[in-house]
Amino acid sequence: MQYFSTNKKAPSVSFKEAVINGLAPDNGLYFPEKITPIDSKYIKQINSFGNEELAWTAIHQFVGEDIPLDVLKKIVIETVNFPFPLVEIKKNVYSLELFHGPTWAFKDVGARFMARCLGYFSEGNQQKNTVLVATSGDTGGAVADGFLGVEGVDVVILYPSGKVSDIQERQLTTLGRNITAIEVNGTFDDCQTMVKKAFLDAELKDSLRLTSANSINVARWLPQMFYYFFAYKQLKEKSSPFVFSVPSGNFGNICAGVLAQKIGLPVSHFVAATNVNDTVPRYLKTDTYAPNPTVATISNAMDVSNPSNFVRLIELIEGADMKNTLDAFSFTDKETLQVMADVKKQLRYLLDPHGAVAYLGLKKYLSKHSNYIGILLETAHPCKFSDTVEQAIGEPLLLSQAAQELLKHDKKSILMSNNFEDLKAFLLKR
Ligand SMILES: *Cc1c(COP(=O)(O)O)cnc(C)c1O
Repeated sequence: MQYFSTNKKAPSVSFKEAVINGLAPDNGLYFPEKITPIDSKYIKQINSFGNEELAWTAIHQFVGEDIPLDVLKKIVIETVNFPFPLVEIKKNVYSLELFHGPTWAFKDVGARFMARCLGYFSEGNQQKNTVLVATSGDTGGAVADGFLGVEGVDVVILYPSGKVSDIQERQLTTLGRNITAIEVNGTFDDCQTMVKKAFLDAELKDSLRLTSANSINVARWLPQMFYYFFAYKQLKEKSSPFVFSVPSGNFGNICAGVLAQKIGLPVSHFVAATNVNDTVPRYLKTDTYAPNPTVATISNAMDVSNPSNFVRLIELIEGADMKNTLDAFSFTDKETLQVMADVKKQLRYLLDPHGAVAYLGLKKYLSKHSNYIGILLETAHPCKFSDTVEQAIGEPLLLSQAAQELLKHDKKSILMSNNFEDLKAFLLKR
């Protein structure tokens, strides 16, 4: 499979090169040249297939010849080896729980898949690949866990000191082995700027094989299709129209949903639910794409005002009216906290702040489409955002055994200023 750059000013590349490059040299995102629908008979028999089989069917055309089939099968099996339950929280409303992976957020699937692909592509290389990534919380933990112990790959993660939750910090800093956590005295933007400078630095380029594990990487983006297949498989009633509500920041997850629809999953509609960083909801109203400065919210993994995957959405829609495929709604922190409290009280279901935004989006859509079945994507375990959840429900949250265990591990991080030269010196010395 070949991938073109959405900016159309860089050559097309194979899956392997797209994974290694991350971003195309013209700063575009890679997008598959051809999308082939799955046989509709296969979709009709979806209940007879296991998750590994479904995942493999969804992804193998996008990998093509670059990974032998038996290796790809093994990668897929290792990527989806935990549950993805679809929980009915009230009549015709379901929560697809994507937080049962090792770091309790949906980014585990993309990170695990990418880590194993890159591990395969690094086999036999003289020099190790260094994966460099900046995180505001969830990405770092998923990438750290996904790449832990992968031969031929070292991982360096930058995170802003004091600005990630306790659980998130432990997930980054307690693994050791090939994972190094750098605690930057600065903001997430500082971390991201340092990483971007590293990729542009000629000296680093000459002496290290640097790779990004950013969410725009095709190997992180594509496996997110799996969620939508797993949800559909678990739906008891498959004849009614159904809608997915996706809590959206960079819009990678929802784009993967639209791709799943393109290859044949009979999804009726999507809702992109955002916090007050509402560039896409405003775009659908006004036809103007005009990002505002980013605003900090309680659903902080979605604090994105210029979603990088928006260009992929444009490619997927191919000139049609975007409104035929999705609606987009934005919600305030106040509404989010309120609905977390209401859902806990009325339905005895605990939402994290991101899932709560998705719930709000679903509720709004279903109020006008009462014949639809609604599925919200619950993208993180509530304990990852325990402060906010406790504030919303007005009572302490009981941490799971695994979370209590994690908090016992000692943090190991390297303190660093927000000066790029310090990062450069550190990387060259390794
Ligand atoms: C990253 C993240 C999102 C946003 O996903 P996108 O693919 O960037 O739209 C939503 N919820 C959680 C918990 C996340 O970590």
